[in-house]
Amino acid sequence: MRILIADDSVVSRHLLEATLTRWGYEVVVASDGSEAWNIFQSENPPRLAILDWMMPGMTGPDVCRHVRATAKDKDVYSYIILLSSKGEREDLIEGMEAGADDYLTKPFDQHELKVRLRPGVRIIELQGELISAREELREQATKDFLTRTWNRLSILDVFERELARGARENRPVGVVLADLDHFKSVNDTYGHFAGDAVLREFVRRVSGCIRPYDAIGRYGGEEFLIILPGCDEAATRKETERMRAVLADTPMSFTQESRLVTCSFGATASIPSEGATAEWLIRVADDALYRAKRHGRNQVVFVDSSAASAQQPVAP
Ligand code: GH3
Ligand code: MG
Ligand code: MG
Repeated sequence: MRILIADDSVVSRHLLEATLTRWGYEVVVASDGSEAWNIFQSENPPRLAILDWMMPGMTGPDVCRHVRATAKDKDVYSYIILLSSKGEREDLIEGMEAGADDYLTKPFDQHELKVRLRPGVRIIELQGELISAREELREQATKDFLTRTWNRLSILDVFERELARGARENRPVGVVLADLDHFKSVNDTYGHFAGDAVLREFVRRVSGCIRPYDAIGRYGGEEFLIILPGCDEAATRKETERMRAVLADTPMSFTQESRLVTCSFGATASIPSEGATAEWLIRVADDALYRAKRHGRNQVVFVDSSAASAQQPVAP
């Protein structure tokens, strides 16, 4: 674990550095408060710090106050121990009020320092574990377990967000529903695990051919929703055709043989001035997908969202 020490006294600094290095810490050294504050502001500062109280420029409590005042991101808590030759009770209160976690008087006793560092290490480690657990939960809540792409709820979220942005910036959003062709027969021929692998390979190939700001999510079993921000009809057609080709051009390998796995695509694009809802656009894309299936699969059908709306019966 990395630890920052800030002390303007060379002797005290060296002693601390030698001790902490011996205990296995990776030591980052600052010779005054301003330097320590700079290190705190860097990309990846140490989470543990021992700051001398009296330093020219910024004192230890000053640095502490700055660190606490600017800690926007609660994920990066720094455990700070103040080190001082003062031992008065009022000083202790001032130091703690500045946001220090603990307080140690100089000359420090090595055993005491070791013991006082322990809760800091524990807090930093626990926090790291909490962050990974939270990330894991977030991953589980937003991603599809099998394909690791967005799940239905998340891709719908992305879609709503992009539609709103499109309306604000007067830009269209391309919407594509993709459904693998004869997927049931893949399962029936090669087994369910092979079917799972096909779904993953589908996501891998399509993800590889869309732009970084496009999004793909699993909408249902073998059905995927792909959102193409900024794409009008021509751009949506072109990009969807690329997705179709990335599947149809190269067979997938199974244990004994390889086989082409194709996909049908239903596409549409929002027209910002018309303000169609996500639900409506998905219905249009679904209708286009149905037509692609009916016309022989392995193809892209684009349906104009406004023309489609004109065909819709008016709600009573
Ligand atoms: P079409 O070309 O008309 O789309 O035919 P299809 O066989 O692809 O469509 P159908 O709806 O008849 O079958 C879809 C199959 O997808 C049935 C279901 O068992 C399979 N499936 C859905 N989710 C999964 C999954 O997570 N893993 C695997 N292996 N199969 C799945
Ligand atoms: Mg000093
Ligand atoms: Mg299918």
